[in-house]
Amino acid sequence: ARAARLSAPLTPGALADGTPVPLLANLGSADAAGAALAAGAEGVGLFRTEFLFLDAATAPTVAEQQLEYGRLLQAFDGKKVVVRVLDAGADKPLAFLDDGHEDNPALGLRGIRALRAHEEILRDQLSALAAADAETNADLWVMAPMVSTVEEAEYFSALAHELGIRVAGVMVEVPSAALLADRILRASDFASIGTNDLTQYTLAADRLLGTVAALQSPWNPAVLRLIAEVGAAGRASGKPVGICGEAAADPLLAVVLVGLGATTLSMSPAAIADVRASLLRFDSAQAAALAEAALSADGAAEAHAAARAYADGIR
Ligand code: PEP
Ligand code: MG
Repeated sequence: ARAARLSAPLTPGALADGTPVPLLANLGSADAAGAALAAGAEGVGLFRTEFLFLDAATAPTVAEQQLEYGRLLQAFDGKKVVVRVLDAGADKPLAFLDDGHEDNPALGLRGIRALRAHEEILRDQLSALAAADAETNADLWVMAPMVSTVEEAEYFSALAHELGIRVAGVMVEVPSAALLADRILRASDFASIGTNDLTQYTLAADRLLGTVAALQSPWNPAVLRLIAEVGAAGRASGKPVGICGEAAADPLLAVVLVGLGATTLSMSPAAIADVRASLLRFDSAQAAALAEAALSADGAAEAHAAARAYADGIR
């Protein structure tokens, strides 16, 4: 029976009532595509492109990038692939993008801000992605990291569309973007919530600093309220709202996130099986009730306990 279960085809992510919740992979290189597909990934929800730029004295050429993006898109033929443009700065510094010392790099020239200051790098990357897309049959979406204003969302969307990207969106990982999610989504084709940075910026707790690690919980109802804001804006506009931070890999929190309005979940491939099994235990109304229980708590531990109690009660 165990062998049969292991070889059974992997079913797509869904709630108990059949509501689809596509389960996507977070990837850092096209080399990881095979393992992600074997783990049941229905596509890619976050392709981090920093590795192409790390350790490089200069940015990779359009041709070099096109080759790598082409490999990725080919591996996910017919499937959705969300690529994030370069997220440099803060915890991801790059030699050739060094704009001088910053006392607070997490609050500095990073993500879309750094790309705007070096627009040729962004233009090259978008052109390489559009060229790879034209040669392959995956469903390519491209998103910008660290967007904090509606104007940045408009800037990215206009530039991406101009350079041949069909679906252009933004990551919501700064509280200002979550609070204005309705307007951010008006300017974008989709949003994807990066819960790692969203938690860091909501709690004002450095994600790399062990002494404040206890504050770094996406279960904190302040973080959940911001996610709910984005989920509501997604429902009102009919535009997709994905989750691509670590929170999506927590099987119980994944259900809460769907209850808050997330339409897809992206995670490290190893987490997909457990999240799939967890989603199948709840229908849409129960996921919403689970989210409500977590939202009503005072803190992260209480939110987790409330969700756990609700889940145990319906088994
Ligand atoms: C995030 O911030 O949640 C995210 C997915 O991006 P990264 O972890 O690469 O900053
Ligand atoms: Mg981030």
